[in-house]
Amino acid sequence: MSLTGPYEHLPLANGDIAPVHIRVDGRAKRISLKVEKIGGLVTLTAPSEAKLPEARRFMSKRTRWIAERRAEAHEITPFEPGSVVPFLGRMRRIVQDKSAKDPLVVFGDQILVGGPGSSVKSAIYRFFKAEALRRLIASTSKYAAKSGVTVKRVSIRDAKTRWGSCSADGRLSFSWRLVMAPEHVLDYVAAHEVAHLQHMNHSPEYWTHLAGLFPEFKVAESWLKENGPSLRSYG
Ligand SMILES: [Zn+2]
Repeated sequence: MSLTGPYEHLPLANGDIAPVHIRVDGRAKRISLKVEKIGGLVTLTAPSEAKLPEARRFMSKRTRWIAERRAEAHEITPFEPGSVVPFLGRMRRIVQDKSAKDPLVVFGDQILVGGPGSSVKSAIYRFFKAEALRRLIASTSKYAAKSGVTVKRVSIRDAKTRWGSCSADGRLSFSWRLVMAPEHVLDYVAAHEVAHLQHMNHSPEYWTHLAGLFPEFKVAESWLKENGPSLRSYG
């Protein structure tokens, strides 16, 4: 059982007020406290209603820790006019022009959102997801042809931790947020998943096979390790 309560506001010593999501989860083994790496939302979990007072005491003793985690968290940059967000590895400013005919055009350092009626946020979400899917379909079919395997289906998601995944029967799924990364990084993740269609593991044979498909994979891997988490801070 999982009860979701409203948000509470926890004042911290540094003057910050942290929004706290308090939840009761019957499957939780113990009281736990978590601070999201993106946005800094605090979640306090208690295994039962009866444990809530204890959970609150637990949290109130850890306000300094919460403040530290929140200071390290990435702030969320919303998809709205004036925000600067990455697309294909380049930072671009979102500009709204209601008189423009095209719903969305990427032009140099700008993402121009036009057309009346639709919100900027949903227009960008729609465009980024469609563009991610289009590029990932092209990229996976290129690597599938190169390695002689068949990709059954490509889909996009907004997974919290994984950039891509694959099933043994040839269905691949990817995070649409890859469209914000440089093109070679998106290509790398496509090649990485296609290579799993031959080796469903990360064995030495797998990496040898991947290196044949995508020789410069280490550069892309380290880009993702360093910059990947920040891609989750937009929207
Ligand atoms: Zn893998």
